[in-house]
Amino acid sequence: MVTGGTRGIGHAISVELKAAGYTVAAIYAGNDAAAEAFSKETGIRTYKWDVGDYDACVAGIAKVEADLGPVDVVVNNAGITRDATLHKMTPQQWRDVMRVDLDSMFNMCQPLIEGMRERGYGRIINISSINGQKGQMGQTNYSAAKAGVIGFTKALAQEVAKKGITVNVIAPGYIDTEMVAAVPPKVLESIIATIPVGRLGKAEEIAHCVVFLADEKAAFITGATFTANGAQYIAG
Ligand code: NDP
Repeated sequence: MVTGGTRGIGHAISVELKAAGYTVAAIYAGNDAAAEAFSKETGIRTYKWDVGDYDACVAGIAKVEADLGPVDVVVNNAGITRDATLHKMTPQQWRDVMRVDLDSMFNMCQPLIEGMRERGYGRIINISSINGQKGQMGQTNYSAAKAGVIGFTKALAQEVAKKGITVNVIAPGYIDTEMVAAVPPKVLESIIATIPVGRLGKAEEIAHCVVFLADEKAAFITGATFTANGAQYIAG
């Protein structure tokens, strides 16, 4: 199950997981046209619900499991930005990012965890961000939510370690998607200048990390944060 699995990084994750042999369900929020095009192109089933809404997640997960069977791998990738410096940020901008980027971790993992515990197997992969690691001006909401994803992952990894379930974070740097296309060109140019590899990352490069962590053989990697950022920020 891949949240935000129809566009951007999630699109690549869904496609790579399918290529690796998984049956994939891609979750999206409201862009039906993109979801339809994605489904037509890839043959992957899509489901629409808001990952910021707990009840919607419970109902959506039940539907996916009825259609496709138990969920062994969940990639919590859906995320949004609502950028503003704090003195201009509205409570709505703060809440929107918190519910989609952080509440979604609870909303998706809590309903799934019991089944994984019973089956003694699970792979939970949470998508954070370089900006949750280093902080980014104009993104107090996003940086706080994405740092929260890392704390959530470390705690849950310890809780379920004996149950055959791994919980890890991937923290991408700047990846060439619509989210980054929304950054003004001048700002983007200055960001690329700070990436030692000298370019934006590709969605497929994040998908590759997901497939690695989703594998049964990645059993001893848990509670980890994988950075994939072209050496823009090297966490200690
Ligand atoms: P996109 O904006 O390209 O795609 C977002 C996807 O998430 C879409 O499928 C969208 O559905 C879905 N989505 C958004 N809100 C919800 C919601 N409430 N419920 C369910 N699905 C939702 O994003 P990216 O591919 O750029 O980003 C993916 C993840 O990677 C995010 O968590 C982001 O924070 C993180 N990230 C991205 C970076 C980048 O450079 N792009 C860098 C670091 C981290 P719909 O199509 O219906 O809108």
